[in-house]
Amino acid sequence: MKNELTCVECGRMYPATSGRVKCVCGGQLVPTLPRSLRRVNAPGIWSWEATLVASVFSERVTLYEGNTPLVHAPKLAKELNLKEIYLKDESRNPSGTFIDRGSATLVTAARSLRLARLVTASLGDLGVSVATYSRRAGLRCKVIMPSYITPVKAYQTAMLADSVEYVESYKESLSKAWKYGSAPASMPVTPQNPFLLDGYRTLAMEILTDLRTRKPGVVLVPVGDGALAYATLQIISKFSPDTTVIGVRASSKSPLLKDVAVDHPLFADLLKDLMDHSGGYMIEVGEDDVVSALKLLAKCEGMLTELTGATAVAALIKLSDDLRSTSPIVSIISGGPARDPAVLRTVVSEGHPRYLTRIGFTKMKILEILALQGPLHPYAVWKILKSEYGVNVSLRSIYQHFSELNEMRLVESAEEREGKRRRKVFRITDEGLSLIR
Ligand SMILES: [Zn+2]
Repeated sequence: MKNELTCVECGRMYPATSGRVKCVCGGQLVPTLPRSLRRVNAPGIWSWEATLVASVFSERVTLYEGNTPLVHAPKLAKELNLKEIYLKDESRNPSGTFIDRGSATLVTAARSLRLARLVTASLGDLGVSVATYSRRAGLRCKVIMPSYITPVKAYQTAMLADSVEYVESYKESLSKAWKYGSAPASMPVTPQNPFLLDGYRTLAMEILTDLRTRKPGVVLVPVGDGALAYATLQIISKFSPDTTVIGVRASSKSPLLKDVAVDHPLFADLLKDLMDHSGGYMIEVGEDDVVSALKLLAKCEGMLTELTGATAVAALIKLSDDLRSTSPIVSIISGGPARDPAVLRTVVSEGHPRYLTRIGFTKMKILEILALQGPLHPYAVWKILKSEYGVNVSLRSIYQHFSELNEMRLVESAEEREGKRRRKVFRITDEGLSLIR
């Protein structure tokens, strides 16, 4: 096993101990592929140490991630008229997603390299996972997230990270993570970090070895930025070339999915090249498909997952005609149950207006501030958000939030006299209050 990172653009190689996260040419670095899938007796993903580039580092960090069950799902297969389905249940990881596999290798590298701080750009899950493992290893962790993030993810991150910054967009969080993370003794953590990819590969390795002598006909992988799908494709195309990998994207056009869907996956081009080469393909699922998948998983197999965690099962519903004769099918599910009560409420109470149940972190905070402090001008709320909650967005976007909250009838405008002047303030409505209680 060569413990190296190779640039996909120019082919330059770096030892893993260099701690490099990007090539000098700006290209993506990928860890060396293992020659065989050998497992040893060690905790967490370190049972794959013989295949991991991070095994060169001695100060290993683990929370017993990985080794998740491959659950046989005969009732789901019957319902969809498919031959045989297995669900690789990644929700059993310490923070509820496959990302923990990558966080274990990443934080191990960071600690062994004597780094003091990780700076993570996240839409939710990556920040929670990296902050979890940083705590474990005694490293500092800053997380930068878009301000529209799902509130429950924001609260989890606040519990675990040393500092949190909310910015306008995911793109801005990525560029800030690269900037701050390039300071001495720091490392930027974006989905492109090669030390994450290293741990992600163990998921495909487990799928192949769990099935023993059989090989999966199809593996369905959820795609956000595509890092997991890329890592999975690399392993599957090398060790099981006849298996088809299908990447499943959540449609950003669906209101319920728009906060978690990624419009331009960072790995889009690399994934396309590898898929064209190996016969895999991508499919997109919408909100209705995912809601159906959540219900089917609960009804058939007694499993509850998060919204994005069910996308790969949603794709199965869509593709059931095409996959009629394929066996076995492996679908990856991820995300802890009941992490997002708003989503569960929407799924259970059909017909309930959806916009009411799904507001992001900034809107939730605006409502909380108005509930606590009474009617306020958006400018005053903007200042409180900035100074007390680290929400670093423009005044214009706060006005936009107010206008949307007004449309949802969660706030209403009122006039306040200040001496002879009258000014427009906003107060929370009863509906707004019922949402934050
Ligand atoms: Zn390069």
